[in-house]
Amino acid sequence: MTNNAFEDAKKQLRQAQAVLGFSDAEYDQLANSRREVAVSIPMRRHDGSREILHGYRVQHNMTRGPAKGGVRFAPNVDLDEVRALAMLMTWKCSLLNLPYGGAKGGVNVDPRNYSDHELERITRRYTAEIIPIIGPDIDIPAPDIGTNEQNMAWMMDTFSVAKGHTVLGVVTGKPISLGGSQGRAASTSRGVEVIALRALEKAGLDPKNTTASVQGFGKVGRGAARFLFDDGVTITAVSDMYGGLVNPAGIDIPALEKFVDETGKVVGFPGANPATGDDILEADVDLLVPAAVEGVITEENAARIKARVIVEGANGPTTPEADAILNAAGKMVVPDILANAGGVVVSYFEWVQSNQSNWWSLEEVEDRLRVRMNSAWDDVDAYAEEKGLSLRTAATVMAVERVLAAHNMRGLFP
Ligand code: NAD
Repeated sequence: MTNNAFEDAKKQLRQAQAVLGFSDAEYDQLANSRREVAVSIPMRRHDGSREILHGYRVQHNMTRGPAKGGVRFAPNVDLDEVRALAMLMTWKCSLLNLPYGGAKGGVNVDPRNYSDHELERITRRYTAEIIPIIGPDIDIPAPDIGTNEQNMAWMMDTFSVAKGHTVLGVVTGKPISLGGSQGRAASTSRGVEVIALRALEKAGLDPKNTTASVQGFGKVGRGAARFLFDDGVTITAVSDMYGGLVNPAGIDIPALEKFVDETGKVVGFPGANPATGDDILEADVDLLVPAAVEGVITEENAARIKARVIVEGANGPTTPEADAILNAAGKMVVPDILANAGGVVVSYFEWVQSNQSNWWSLEEVEDRLRVRMNSAWDDVDAYAEEKGLSLRTAATVMAVERVLAAHNMRGLFP
């Protein structure tokens, strides 16, 4: 991540303020988190030694409903990163009209260096420390970088044991066997696909004659690459944290998925040539999907981005300075709070199903997801056209306006 992800998030809020004209006091209320918790996580390693990890849960806003947001396990997690991501979640939930505020959590740990038993202990202790501030009506965590449905099962179990009964609605992104939703695992990628197809249509590009580069081959990037491949898009470049691949004739994504299942990384895939991270971002393609981490498109490399359409699978991949450069160059940048909202939409569906103990079919989930994503695209696109704004500013303004209206209707306590 960049060191100033939180500063970047606040700059985006200032841009919304410039359009909406709200007061500095209102800006301050929106820029500050509602609640921030930092916890120590003492853990015993398999060799008997002890280690202290640091975890966070930030609830940026709870005005429109319980807070909602993922939990990240990554080595560089810090409070400012979590604050920034929590704020983005508030705007994302508002933009998609979900009855939630925004939150985010994280533990500064590199999961690759820990066994499954150790990761279970870390997850359970982190959960135990934040039990007082989470719950189906308070704050509902979900997976993010470095966490998955297994972590969610442990979180749900830890919370439920503490309460004395099973509470399925406390987290989303759970395994299907434990109250998870059909379609949740692929939902962020499915949403990225829906939005990317709408963006290509707006740019006058036919998916079957479109080339794309995807940065990140994890939960979001891999599915996005696969769905776009299935739509006929030629994926010529992909990467993960270990390195990149290029093949101007197109990479066989299903074969790459099989390779990654076997080896754990894209590097070494025989159907493409090795490439650097810069090659992936600056590839000569029509569509770029950054789906890895924050702050990868910067003032330094933005002018070298060749893609006409950039669809942000990751949260915060473009700095505000880079965003200005891309906009000035006539690129279409579809912001994270719209492009990757499919995950939180299906998390919302999962929460509704868990709370009602009534589960929907995959078809029902995917149909409802498509309706929500398409309608959010229509709203943002129309607003951007009407006001002459970039898609990012339009999306942020729409989201912030709803949160501000809710604040003002509720008034101040006491
Ligand atoms: P993940 O841990 O499953 O995958 C991350 C991928 O990025 C991995 O392939 C990793 O190797 C790769 N990566 C890391 N650093 C990289 C680098 N410098 N260059 C290239 N690749 C790199 O995480 P994820 O859940 O796929 O999340 C990716 C992004 O999407 C994050 O910004 C996350 O906040 C965002 N997001 C995730 C979800 C979700 O439902 N999982 C929802 C919305 C947004």
